[in-house]
Amino acid sequence: MTVEGGMVLRDLIRDAAAAGLALPHSPYWYGVTIGGLLATGAHGSSLWGKGSAVHEYVVGMRIVTPAPASQGFAVVRVLGAQHPDLDAAKVSLGVLGVVSQVTLELQPMFKRSVTFLERDDSDLAAEVAVWGHQHEFGDMTWLPRLGKVIYREDDRVHVSSPGDGLNDYIGFRSFPTIGLFIARVAEEHLQEDSTGNDMARCLAAGVLPPAFQSRAYGFTNDGSSFTGYPVVGYQHRMQASGGCVDGKERNNNNLLLLSSSCPWDPRVRSLFFYNSGFSVALSKAPALVADMQRLRDLNPRAMCSLDAKMGVLIRYVGASSAYLGKTEDSVEFDFTYYRSHVHGRPRAHSDVIDELEQMALRKYGAVPHWGKNRNFAFHGAAGKHAKASEFLRVKERYDPDGIFSSEWSDQVLGVDGSPNIAHKGCAIDGLCICSHDSHCAPEQGYFCRPGKVYTEARVCSSFVQPTPHRDHRHDL
Ligand SMILES: Cc1cc2nc3c(=O)[nH]c(=O)nc-3n(C[C@H](O)[C@H](O)[C@H](O)COP(=O)(O)OP(=O)(O)OC[C@H]3O[C@@H](n4cnc5c(N)ncnc54)[C@H](O)[C@@H]3O)c2cc1C
Repeated sequence: MTVEGGMVLRDLIRDAAAAGLALPHSPYWYGVTIGGLLATGAHGSSLWGKGSAVHEYVVGMRIVTPAPASQGFAVVRVLGAQHPDLDAAKVSLGVLGVVSQVTLELQPMFKRSVTFLERDDSDLAAEVAVWGHQHEFGDMTWLPRLGKVIYREDDRVHVSSPGDGLNDYIGFRSFPTIGLFIARVAEEHLQEDSTGNDMARCLAAGVLPPAFQSRAYGFTNDGSSFTGYPVVGYQHRMQASGGCVDGKERNNNNLLLLSSSCPWDPRVRSLFFYNSGFSVALSKAPALVADMQRLRDLNPRAMCSLDAKMGVLIRYVGASSAYLGKTEDSVEFDFTYYRSHVHGRPRAHSDVIDELEQMALRKYGAVPHWGKNRNFAFHGAAGKHAKASEFLRVKERYDPDGIFSSEWSDQVLGVDGSPNIAHKGCAIDGLCICSHDSHCAPEQGYFCRPGKVYTEARVCSSFVQPTPHRDHRHDL
């Protein structure tokens, strides 16, 4: 199927289905464009076949790159399946030129069968190595504070299997704007109280997981009601969702209070958060999970901010020939956590999340997702891709004057400068890893300290001592 670069994933999936075809893998949110999702290497979850990255299913591209006036200012390049530059263009961060057309290899429509199973996390380190091999679309959601894992048992079934299930994930639905506004005010109150009100924060964090679970995360067996697992449905109704893409636009401030929005809509003062995503080689994932659990066990309440946003999503992505794709079969860890609107304002227990990220990126060589993360995660990111230099050679040929580059893209690709930006308070905002107290917020009691499990980490920590080793998960 050949589509324009700006086509929204929702429409692509729908139009393919109308022709009896399915895109086998995609991000879980369908409000993205094919050009945008490819540029950042977006994916779903799978190790089977070609894996879950959408760029694995690209068999042709048309890309418009700059040219001198004598050549009409632009060159239209058509890259077929065998073209050597396709591996550069498939995941390009947008720096090669404008992707105007994409040809995808689709599959005949199929069905999937999904069941969510909840278990404790005692064997998560072992499970992470095998779950992706056992289930074609399997993933896991780890709730570290609660010590639980929601396993997504998700497999392809014959198209004749009964069921007309629908995935309308609750987190991607429209919410009343006024409700989002109130939720944000309450969250600011809880999160920015650095005096240690863990009890209140953890109680609030405990609301979302059971609410999502009791509503089957938004899955229904027939498009309107949930009657039990497994939910069986056609691929195009199960692979992605985004109820809020169709939310009504607001036109003026009066309508603001009556309208509804995506929970993260930057046009309204609703939820505001960071989203970190990084992948480690499959072989290293069990040790990383064990280290994460060790850090959790020192003070489980410090993890409440992760549980509050539905925990850590763990997905699988296969090795790719794309120069900026994954170099080996990988496990992607994805988490979302509170962000202040005020620069330099510390978050409660931010040291623990910072340590988790530094541990993954530095100790385990994790590779940041190109479309997520805070600045510091991108330091040295290009060097973690074996074929980054091949990518830069294609960039030099396609856009020698850097018309499609920016200060940011030069920093993350290691062309010029560093995404680590050191200044007062930089580590609080994730712009740097602290090496000096001034990178934290010493006037608010946050100083640059070693990590607790990964002692080479440098994190902004308040002087509150960690709670002695004891399992607090069931305290509240
Ligand atoms: C709610 C939500 C859920 C998400 N879920 C997932 C997920 O499940 N899995 C996952 O991997 N990612 C996920 N993401 C991340 C998402 O896939 C990336 O942020 C993606 O790049 C967004 O696409 P976009 O169309 O919004 O692109 P934009 O943000 O507009 O652009 C992203 C980049 O692509 C470049 N670009 C865009 N169009 C073109 C083009 N035609 N030609 C050349 N370059 C272009 C831009 O220059 C930019 O560098 C999610 C994001 C959100 C907001």
